[in-house]
Formats: sequence, structure tokens, C-alpha cells
Amino acid sequence: MLKIDQLHAGYGKVEVLHGISIEVPKGQVVTLIGSNGAGKTTTMRAVSGMIAPSAGQISLNGRRIDGLESYHIARLGLAHSPEGRRVFATMTVTDNLRLGAFPRYTGARPRGNVEADLERAMELFPRLKERRQQLAGTLSGGEQQMLAMARATMLNPEVVLLDEPSMGLAPILVDEVFKIIERLKSQGVTMLLVEQFAAAALAVADYGYVLENGRISLHGPADKLRTDPAVKAAYLGGG
Ligand code: ATP
Repeated sequence: MLKIDQLHAGYGKVEVLHGISIEVPKGQVVTLIGSNGAGKTTTMRAVSGMIAPSAGQISLNGRRIDGLESYHIARLGLAHSPEGRRVFATMTVTDNLRLGAFPRYTGARPRGNVEADLERAMELFPRLKERRQQLAGTLSGGEQQMLAMARATMLNPEVVLLDEPSMGLAPILVDEVFKIIERLKSQGVTMLLVEQFAAAALAVADYGYVLENGRISLHGPADKLRTDPAVKAAYLGGG
């Protein structure tokens, strides 16, 4: 499980996160909701080692990971599907996916069966299967987003960080992304999910945290948050 304890992080002298604590138990989906600029992406970056926390602790299955290089954190089983289309444009879909498994290798030997996982990822993302030999840079924005998500699953991770997987997608693809999250959940994948569609995120999640100006203002079981008047008013369109 992933445990974030009193995390402080930011950029240069500007502190964005002022001591946040989040727990993601094994096999559960936890969502982090909050308005633009609250610090959701910064949280994801600090957990995956893209930025160094200034204080606090982060542990994965009881092992401290704060302060480690992101590649080392990935090797320990933490996959990050970042916001935006971060794919290798001049490589094929298949090669992008294979790269996702790279941290599983020690020398020439991978942990587990990479080819079998590649096939599993293709089954989970049929759109990618149809385009397996296409260069990633020529995929549509939505397809690139899916490729970033599929690549994260290729780590065979303990925990996946999903940062806005539906960003910029047409409604039909948003539905598809949430179906994929459901399927990953049913396979027992542990996830920390940041999503602009807070209602859909709370529907798939077990537990949720509300981040406001770099502090956790509220947390609880996802079904409780969905009916909380303050959450409804601020994040669920008041409905
Ligand atoms: P959104 O929903 O808009 O993506 P967010 O909750 O993910 O928002 P962050 O991206 O974590 O918010 O940003 C939190 C704050 O940190 C913002 O004020 C933002 O301007 C600032 N910030 C983000 N990235 C950087 C950076 N690379 N350098 C400096 N400041 C940054």
C-alpha cells in the first residue's frame, strides 16, 4: 500500500503542498479531487519522484520512497500515468508499451512475462491493438492518453497513479477510460486517481480526499463524499 504522510512539496521557493496525508490501501481505488491549481498533479509528481518533497514521508509497502530517483521508485512497483500525452512519438504503440516494462529488467531478464502482459494490455485497450504498429505521434489525442495509461500497466505495478486519464477526451472515450479503470480495479490493481470528472471518479473509487490550496480539507468513503453537501456544491455541479 501507498502511504503519504505530512508531505510538503512545491517548486523552488513556492510551497504547493502544505503537509498532506493520504493512504491508498492495497487493491483499492482512492481519488483525489480538488479545483484547478489545488496541487493534485504536484502530489502525483512528488510520489513518483519527479519532484523532491521538502518534508514528510512517502512509503510503498512499508518502504520509504521519498527522495529516491523516479526510476528507482518505478522499479519498486509504482507506475505514473502523467497528465497530458507523454508518449514517445517516433516509436510504435508496441514499443511504447515495451518501454513501460523496462524498469522490470535486471540486465536482460525481466520480472514476469512481458510478452504476456503486452497481450493483456492490448486486450484491455482494443483501440491500441488495432494500431499496434502505428507511430505513437500519429495517434489521436485520446489514443495517446490511452497509450500512456496502458504503458503504466506494463510495469505490472503495485500502485498506479492516474493523473486526469480522461483529459481532452470525447465523451464516448471518457466512458471507455472509466470502464478500463473498473476493469483494472476488478483485477486488483491499486490506484490513486486524479480526475476532473469528480462524480465519475467517486463512483469508481472506494475512498476520496478533497485537496484545497495544498491541504486536505475533507476525506471519507467515496459514497459518503458523493452525498456530502459541501462536496456536491463545490465539485459535483451542485446537483
Ligand atoms: P489542475 O486541475 O489545474 O491540473 P492541480 O490541482 O493538478 O490543478 P498542480 O498542477 O499541482 O494543480 O499545481 C499547483 C500549483 O503549482 C499551481 O499554482 C501551479 O501554478 C503551480 N505549478 C505547477 N507546476 C509548476 C512548475 N513546474 N513550476 C512552478 N509552479 C508550478
